[in-house]
Amino acid sequence: MKQFPAFIDLTNRRTVIIGGGDAALAKARLIIAAGGAPLLIWPEIAAATRAALEGRADLVTAAPARADVTGAALVFIAVENSEQAARWARIAKSTGALVNVIDRPELCDFLTPAIVDRGALTVAISTNGAGPVFARALREKIEAVIPARADALLNIAARYRETVKAKIGPAARRRFWEQFFRGPVAEHALAGDQNGANDLALAAVNNFDAEQQQGVVHIVGAGPGDPDLLTLRALRLIQSADVILYDRLVSDEVLNLARRDAERVFVGKEKANHAVPQDEIEDRMIAYAREGKIVARLKGGDPFIFGRGGEELDALRAAGVEAFVTPGITAAAGCAAAASLPLTHRGEAQAVTFVTGHAKNDEEPDLDWAALAALKNTLVVYMGVGKADAIAARLVAHGRAVSTPAAIIENGTRADQVIVKGTLGNLGAMVAAADVKGPALLVIGEVAARADGAGLVDIAANARRAA
Ligand code: SAH
Repeated sequence: MKQFPAFIDLTNRRTVIIGGGDAALAKARLIIAAGGAPLLIWPEIAAATRAALEGRADLVTAAPARADVTGAALVFIAVENSEQAARWARIAKSTGALVNVIDRPELCDFLTPAIVDRGALTVAISTNGAGPVFARALREKIEAVIPARADALLNIAARYRETVKAKIGPAARRRFWEQFFRGPVAEHALAGDQNGANDLALAAVNNFDAEQQQGVVHIVGAGPGDPDLLTLRALRLIQSADVILYDRLVSDEVLNLARRDAERVFVGKEKANHAVPQDEIEDRMIAYAREGKIVARLKGGDPFIFGRGGEELDALRAAGVEAFVTPGITAAAGCAAAASLPLTHRGEAQAVTFVTGHAKNDEEPDLDWAALAALKNTLVVYMGVGKADAIAARLVAHGRAVSTPAAIIENGTRADQVIVKGTLGNLGAMVAAADVKGPALLVIGEVAARADGAGLVDIAANARRAA
């Protein structure tokens, strides 16, 4: 650390800005945002500065005098002329004020950091002047991980702080706050339900039992694989979970974002070979929650699209366990973007339908083929690779042209993504040529012709060449 970081209360403190241009305006805004009321003084005050600050700052159009800075806690000098800047820095310092001279770090008593301002929550970043651009880049990253409603949560915490201190002993207090900031109170507050959060906080303070604690389960969509496609909330939950239960489709890159001390439980499913039966997954989640754990149930894509998220939510609710759902980018959306394939497109696709190609006992999927064969409908088939031939035959039998474009996207959004293009008529051959091993989608409809990727012919030629 090269300088001492501190947060200064500006209420009832005199702050003075010498200058009247853009830089002076920027500093005035900062002071006002921090609860101060600056005096801005200079012979010329720009019209824009005046307009922006009218009524929120003292604006004095005059040459400053020593008396103006006397008694000030902070003085900002935002004048262009460097001799005048240095002169005013000297004068202000001699009155005992702390001085900041814009763009002259060597004259500064203090520097202004890059700031993340979320109400009660303030993060200040300094590089000691060495890399303000780097500081701003870091600030953006920090902004991204702070939940949008952090301030609302902190306000509730502030309201109960004294009561918690009076009611709960020091050892248990930490656990109380851990639970407060990582459990249901935080979830409600961060989701925008302030009243609910407040009621829960009140109940939590009154009923806190150091012995018995209730956990929470988050059913979280992990997206199609690329960790960049996680939502900010999913990232936050993955990083705060005590236990993570994950499927086969959750990529390693996503799992690696978990806390190092988090317990990771694989409950993956292979088609027709469920590693852990569904009811056992549900029982495990419930058991962890009852131990007071924060559980993240990570699912590929979106939990509510062919993910059995609804069943898990029902089971958790029936067991009286608090449960929340965080959406994820479903495979169709992820693969479409990764393949530059618009799922709807003016003139080509007015609707998009997601269906599952999976059926009990390896039978043919029981779908409304007439509706699915409609023109200008993009059909996205999840878990359909094994049934591609049958699906194509059914669609053709119901009137879809054999020339309808089709694409197979395997491992979409991942480093090993493969796209194969062809038509409904040769969908089965495409599956065979692509030799699909990873998760893959079938996309059928005019828009499939737009996908980036190799045609069937190229794939077959490559395979021959490789053989
Ligand atoms: N809930 C998930 C889908 C689970 S069903 C979601 O919303 O995406 C599993 C099927 O999803 C796979 O058989 C495959 O058809 C599809 N899928 C999942 N991830 C995929 C990926 N990265 N690329 C292509 N298809 C994928």
